[in-house]
Amino acid sequence: EKIFSGFSKTRDNLAVIDELLLYWNLADTDKVLDELEEALLVSDFGPRITIKIVESLRDDILAGKLKSGPDIKDALKNSVLDLLTKKGNKTELQLGYRKPAVVLIVGVNGGGKTTSLGKLAYRLKNEGAKILMAAGDTFRAAASDQLEIWAERTGCEIVVAEGEKAKASSVLSQAVKRGKEQGFDIVLCDTSGRLHTNYSLMEELVACKKAVGKVVNGAPNEILLVLDGTTGLNMLPQAREFNDVVGITGLILTKLDGSARGGCVVSVVDELGIPVKFVGVGEGVEDLQPFDAEAFVNAIFS
Ligand code: GDP
Repeated sequence: EKIFSGFSKTRDNLAVIDELLLYWNLADTDKVLDELEEALLVSDFGPRITIKIVESLRDDILAGKLKSGPDIKDALKNSVLDLLTKKGNKTELQLGYRKPAVVLIVGVNGGGKTTSLGKLAYRLKNEGAKILMAAGDTFRAAASDQLEIWAERTGCEIVVAEGEKAKASSVLSQAVKRGKEQGFDIVLCDTSGRLHTNYSLMEELVACKKAVGKVVNGAPNEILLVLDGTTGLNMLPQAREFNDVVGITGLILTKLDGSARGGCVVSVVDELGIPVKFVGVGEGVEDLQPFDAEAFVNAIFS
């Protein structure tokens, strides 16, 4: 399974504890837990989660509940799985019943927004949906060219801005109107991603959200924030800001194929309470995987 190999670097980071657990006995507890703490921090689980996990393992070991290395490993995997699933967040896209469903893809430039939109289009089209793309990044000329390439590659139709200085919100509202008139199932909307500290970007996203809601009640159905997995914990403040302004319904974490910082997946879910819906594990059309918490845990702690 692709996602399995996608986390190989994070797995390598975490593998240091395996040997220690193999020969574990009670007297080694402090040493083993210190090493585990280090490995979790290096993989970007973040200090809060790391301490929570390590201390709960220590308590269970001292209480005699964990009696062997494999017991400890299982407890570790379960506690990570709990963190990922306890909020009962829906990891599947929630597209409602009105047509077209509208998905806004947001995030800072370079994170993998356009690529993820293309991969998502490919996946949804293969599931039988009629997809319309909307090139809402009117700020960067190259962005719509890039999306047009993805439209061709995936055989999807696309709406692009007519003329320069078109407003993102009007391109998106035009696309959703066309989606409605022509029976599209889903409109996937790209948005601009110049620096997140730029207030006008946030204003623009709010305007986009309103504009599509005027065409179809309840739209957008999903606002997916694309985060670059190689930035690890640094993605947190950015994610918080997007969430505060537009209300994020799900995350797409990209570039996890090359990242040793897979623990940030757990951190971001725990800190923001927003589910990861997809992970990007490469640059090809098929390299977007639905996020499966159990498969993830098995991939990083093999
Ligand atoms: P945008 O500016 O947010 O739209 O970012 P792009 O979609 O243009 O992606 C930026 C770069 O990251 C491109 O070179 C993509 O091919 C690359 N990229 C995106 N997602 C992934 C991924 O999951 N894995 C890898 N290895 N590269 C990715």
